[in-house]
Amino acid sequence: MSLACGLTFDFDAASVWLGSYQSRNPSMISRGEFGAVAMSRILDLLRKYEIAASFCVPGHTALSYPDLVRRIADEGHEIVHHGWVHENPADFSEQDERRNIERGLEAIFAAAQVVPKGYRSPSWDFSERTIGILKDFGFAYDSSLMGSDFTPYYARQGDVFDDVNPFIFGENIDLVELPVSWLMDDFPHFEFVENDTYGLSAPSKVEEIWKGEFDYAHQHVCDGIFSITMHPQVIGRGHRMLMLERLIQYFSADGKAHFTTLIDYAEAWRAAHPLDVWVRSNAVQAQHASGRATLPHQST
Ligand SMILES: [Zn+2]
Repeated sequence: MSLACGLTFDFDAASVWLGSYQSRNPSMISRGEFGAVAMSRILDLLRKYEIAASFCVPGHTALSYPDLVRRIADEGHEIVHHGWVHENPADFSEQDERRNIERGLEAIFAAAQVVPKGYRSPSWDFSERTIGILKDFGFAYDSSLMGSDFTPYYARQGDVFDDVNPFIFGENIDLVELPVSWLMDDFPHFEFVENDTYGLSAPSKVEEIWKGEFDYAHQHVCDGIFSITMHPQVIGRGHRMLMLERLIQYFSADGKAHFTTLIDYAEAWRAAHPLDVWVRSNAVQAQHASGRATLPHQST
């Protein structure tokens, strides 16, 4: 059986340094400019192998590099909402979090005349309101949470959690979650940020990890999606591009995998797993109230 493989590229450009890192250091910010340089390399590689990929684009990037963002769409790739300026949604009021979503939508539409159906939060950060806001905006899927590895699930709204009481699971809603992990992200493996991230790994190490995850998924979870998160400013370095090309050849050898955009996979998965049927048959991820343990009553 052929495993679905989703190559994703977060085209953060300067936004990750301006937003997540709050940098005003022109040298640090210029790392993002290399992402724009590397975009052509990545798009050319994808065209060589006739792969449609998913590009997660903050609104700030769309307005800064409209020609490149238009090219993403023109070449048949998906554009995914990736925040306004790589902000942490939890740093904003609900009104401003909603406004950041709107600004991202407006910027992507201005650049490429595309309305994204998928969302990936900057740095995979959420506020406790984010799921509900994504539902209100009508996104078909999110790809920011880590509750599974290869198997999608329906996101939950209304979880209640603290460090005293048992976790109370909210209601599964009609928003497909395509899970991610830092393990499958090029940034911590390769980037260097003083006092933060000491990556700079040799590609051989990352190649071994990603092949191992792929082999397991192919052997055991072949109806799932094997997804990698990359950043043009990180993966675009020469030796890492060579690694990416080797991996593309490895994944596609002998028909083991086929490449898909996240939206195409999410829509097919949703059609095959209606929410009500899925909730009834997934006790772990849906966490039916009847399956929860309670402590025996203690009398004093
Ligand atoms: Zn990002």
